[in-house]
Amino acid sequence: SGPFLSVRDLQVRFATEDGVVRAVDGLSFDLRRGQTLGIVGESGSGKSVTSLAVLGMHDRSRTTVTGRVTFDGTELIDATEKQLQSLRGNRIAMIFQDPLTALSPYYTIGAQIAETYRRHTGASRSAARARAVDLLGRVGIAAPGRRADDYPHEFSGGMRQRAMIAMSLVCDPDLLIADEPTTALDVTVQAQILDLLGDLQREFDTAIILITHDLGVVANTAHEVLVMYAGRAVEHGATQQVLTRPRHPYTEGLLRSVPRLHSDVDEPLVPIPGSPPSLLAVPAGCPFHPRCAHRERVPGDDCVTRRPALAEVGHAAACHLPEEPREVLAQQHLQP
Ligand code: SF4
Ligand code: MG
Repeated sequence: SGPFLSVRDLQVRFATEDGVVRAVDGLSFDLRRGQTLGIVGESGSGKSVTSLAVLGMHDRSRTTVTGRVTFDGTELIDATEKQLQSLRGNRIAMIFQDPLTALSPYYTIGAQIAETYRRHTGASRSAARARAVDLLGRVGIAAPGRRADDYPHEFSGGMRQRAMIAMSLVCDPDLLIADEPTTALDVTVQAQILDLLGDLQREFDTAIILITHDLGVVANTAHEVLVMYAGRAVEHGATQQVLTRPRHPYTEGLLRSVPRLHSDVDEPLVPIPGSPPSLLAVPAGCPFHPRCAHRERVPGDDCVTRRPALAEVGHAAACHLPEEPREVLAQQHLQP
């Protein structure tokens, strides 16, 4: 099937006291049903802003969003607040890093999930309660009929995250946006939650945008990866391709800086020197040039003066380096 979500030349700018922030600068991607797109980057790369803009959740009085976002035939950028509200929580759902932003401390977990379901479907109280208990069971909460009557503070962090996933899935959304959904959790629970999202995706044919700073998280869950730097896509392609044959020095740097997930070999972690630029003052030319170890290999001063376009190199990458494979240890790094 064709793309279900299509984003074209998305630009997000907002005014601050210090000038105009170009949070997202010309981003395009497609997403099909049942597929996961991992959006990866350091904090401040524009990845969270992207999801807010896609959902129309940005502050409209301060933020300018241009480009096209088409969700199952509906244009979202010009959509009214009413249209957006009916899509959010119904056909499009979000999960965040901190479940306490989504869960109220004053109501039981079961009541909150049931209420979300009632609001969007008009189901009866008993049907909504049954649906909430069913979902809690499916996200792996033991004795869901009893635990539905617990308050959020009675759940562990991992259980709260599961409860939020249950709440986000209760209306059977077609698109799920998960922003750092496992960052606060320990590694074991993190793996369980990611497995769970994969299972639920297969069952419900949900399209997922998974936003993370952690390449390890996308390695085994995302079909495609889009790497963002300074509000731009610098590399985009099938996950296996991007992780085993990265074409952009930033992606390569990210790969070298993550711990090996499933290997006995002790490779030293090499952090990328420096830090990402302020989105108020993105460097000219290639935005990565102040941190790039490869720029000497590009003839002339192209890296400093010319912005590299995202170009096909097997997959897509935005870098002036001549085409040649740069082998990294990604294969051993991130293989299951
Ligand atoms: Fe490095 Fe130049 Fe490629 Fe940018 S364009 S990533 S500075 S080699
Ligand atoms: Mg974020």
